[in-house]
Amino acid sequence: MADNTKFIFVTGGVLSSLGKGLASAAIGALLESRGLTVTIQKLDPYINVDPGTMNPFQHGEVFVTDDGSETDLDLGHYERFTHAKLGCDNNFTTGKIYDAVISKERRGDYLGGTVQVIPHITDEIKKSIKLAQDGVDVVIVEIGGTIGDIESLPFLEAIRQFKADAGKDNIIYIHLTLVPYIGTAGELKTKPTQHSVKELRSIGIQPDILLCRTDRYLSDDIKAKIALFCDVSQDAVITAKDVECIYEVPLVFHKEGLDDKIVELLHIWTRAPHLDDWAAFVEKFKTPKHSVKIAIVGKYVDLIESYKSLNEALYHGGVANDCRSNLLFVDSETIDADTCSGILSEADGILVPGGFGSRGIEGKICAARYARENNIPYFGICLGLHIAVIEFARNVLGLEGANSEEFDRATPHPVIYLMHEWYDEKTDTVQIRDETSEKGGTMRLGAYSCNISKGTLAHAAYKVLEISERHRHRYEFNNKYKDECVANGMVVSGVSPSGELVEIMELKDHPWFLGCQFHPEFKSRPMDPQPLFRDFIAASLKNKKGK
Ligand code: GLN
Repeated sequence: MADNTKFIFVTGGVLSSLGKGLASAAIGALLESRGLTVTIQKLDPYINVDPGTMNPFQHGEVFVTDDGSETDLDLGHYERFTHAKLGCDNNFTTGKIYDAVISKERRGDYLGGTVQVIPHITDEIKKSIKLAQDGVDVVIVEIGGTIGDIESLPFLEAIRQFKADAGKDNIIYIHLTLVPYIGTAGELKTKPTQHSVKELRSIGIQPDILLCRTDRYLSDDIKAKIALFCDVSQDAVITAKDVECIYEVPLVFHKEGLDDKIVELLHIWTRAPHLDDWAAFVEKFKTPKHSVKIAIVGKYVDLIESYKSLNEALYHGGVANDCRSNLLFVDSETIDADTCSGILSEADGILVPGGFGSRGIEGKICAARYARENNIPYFGICLGLHIAVIEFARNVLGLEGANSEEFDRATPHPVIYLMHEWYDEKTDTVQIRDETSEKGGTMRLGAYSCNISKGTLAHAAYKVLEISERHRHRYEFNNKYKDECVANGMVVSGVSPSGELVEIMELKDHPWFLGCQFHPEFKSRPMDPQPLFRDFIAASLKNKKGK
């Protein structure tokens, strides 16, 4: 182990959804702002090997990294708040850990020994944590779940042991708890925090810093009380106050002295933090000159977490235009030819996001048609590109029954289809896909490059001729229909380097209508908005002004 790497373990108590992922990301941002290099890792206690097959309704978005890993959505926060390059070594689940241990056992690596949670599982966890440390000053490790859960115990035991491995000056434990304000008593209550810390100590972990999630700043008296009961110093009791804009979290933490405390405890000498860009972004976010309403026509509209990166990318694109992006989530199952214009009339721009399965498809096709015919900016992402192509094939080219093979295997016009053979630049191999290929195993995943054509909306946005964006899909545009589409007003503005795979399509006679095969939302950052989102918002704003 490199002796200068420092480790911060972030655990959560009392209940879930307190914002442990955001807190970890904000700690990363603060340390970067002091000139340190960081990486962030998430350890998830569930048994799935990765979140790739988990239902977005239950677990929120699947975040895709450059290397094609399907990861927990918290990795999206980590990438948006820091410059850390994340990949498969940044997200481990119980399933992934057990999978590795069982494979070793089958291979005979344990030489006939009895394989146990301690030390074999805990050793595997510690090994996984060390995988993330290469070349960085600080590794931040977030432990999923809540203290007291049965599932997280092996992870907690592993991070407890880690102190002896890494040396006590090189690691700290930060615990996020809740300090609720009880209206009837008129006061903030510290008991849940006391209990949670007691639980943590019972498994051998003494927190060094407490992040107290609350709706108001903690007084010195409350901090003193928490410090006394939980055995931490008073300046290590940090108010994690609710904020209007998530990008304010690093600023609030800094004001509370969190980064000073962390570097003190980890014995790191750094420069003072530079947080001006964060402050400027928050200011612009809170006081925009303009606003637009964007309709997101999708399937997972009841759980906002399902479109986490998408929402953030729309906010970043908004701020880049001095504009608030107001998001209107529309369940595509409520849309048909009769209801479409009524439901979408207040939208300045329409976005059809990625998705899987046939439910709600016809409603999305209506939305794309409405956008095309009424000159409303349209942004189709992955499935949203498929939808735009199907709509165009049916209603402009007159190809009755045109569809994607995903929704209709027997369609007479498979404008979107399962490409059985294609060249994969990443592995430099020819990939074979068919209906029987294993679920999840056949997707085009992660970063692929794309060549952009000049004089297109895509080129106007990116301003370069070669880009790289992240993918997560099985189906592709069917080149058999390319000439017909182009002859009737579609533009193919981005293709794979081999020219074989269509990556971006646009409409010629339309203010802004673009669909892309990749997921640009994964690479948007507050201070570096994704160009397509920025231009989509600009076009929506223009549409609003022209109304
Ligand atoms: N379901 C489509 C496919 O598999 C689109 C996937 C997506 O939108 N990410 O190709």
